[in-house]
Amino acid sequence: MDRNIETVLSYVNIVDEVSGFVKLKKVGQNYTGLCPFHSEKTPSFHVSESKGLYYCFGCGKGGNVIGFLKDIKGDSFKEVIDYLKKKYNIPLEDSRSYKSAQTSANEAPLKKILNLALNFYYENLFVYMSSSRHIMKYLKDRGIGEDTARDFKLGYAGFGNGLTSMLLSNKADLDIALNAGLLVKKHAGDRGYSDRFVNKLIIPIMDRTGEPVALASRIILKEGEPSPLNFPKYINTNNSEIFVKNNTLFGLDKALPFIKKENSVFVVEGYFDMITLYSSGIKNTVATMGTALSKNHIINLSRLSDEIVL
Ligand SMILES: [Zn+2]
Repeated sequence: MDRNIETVLSYVNIVDEVSGFVKLKKVGQNYTGLCPFHSEKTPSFHVSESKGLYYCFGCGKGGNVIGFLKDIKGDSFKEVIDYLKKKYNIPLEDSRSYKSAQTSANEAPLKKILNLALNFYYENLFVYMSSSRHIMKYLKDRGIGEDTARDFKLGYAGFGNGLTSMLLSNKADLDIALNAGLLVKKHAGDRGYSDRFVNKLIIPIMDRTGEPVALASRIILKEGEPSPLNFPKYINTNNSEIFVKNNTLFGLDKALPFIKKENSVFVVEGYFDMITLYSSGIKNTVATMGTALSKNHIINLSRLSDEIVL
């Protein structure tokens, strides 16, 4: 481990920092509370003071105090280190030396795969338009013009296994794409991968810096096509080390400067609510992506703006 990270961890008590966000109760050697990363009524969130680690048995999230603060505040690794350094007056070497530890082993390849997938779907929609006319029509009917669709990097997943082939030819690790929820294995024990999203509108979900962290897909029926029973309209790629759905606000990358300028933020539920409001000029808008507004969302938003309008 990086020496500076070790130094930071040795100065900071994880219980003190987590207590700022979670009401903790001491149980035996450890502390428990309601998990801030998923919604729950009985505590499955545990903090070990002696180990300096937290773990949630409900959603599987866990890590040290740096990772906790990074995720709960939506800050970068460097921002967290700077915050702790200042708060606890920690003597650290040149800040450049801890940059290399910023990304976990899977983070960089996953980001690369998401970027490849995003561009692949985007090109499908805007370059090979012959099979995506029903998608463009759907967007138009919802008041979303081509410029806006391009701005939000919307895309189209066609038929077949185009994404799988493209990832293969880019020498991407298909198991990472499988875990991310971009690919599937059709049968147990199957050696072959195939595309998960077929004939879907693709909506990229970005972090606040505009980097893709997940993709959402929406089923779009052609005219007269019967809607399949009990089939969810939206399917997302999976939660990962760079994406926690309950912790993410759709559109924040675009809305951020306007939220700061207006000191106010509108929170809507759906992707398209956000996109249409934004394109009609109400740019300080974010969406919770169909989930209820979580404690985390509120914590993140209250750091950005004094007024939250639901
Ligand atoms: Zn949890």
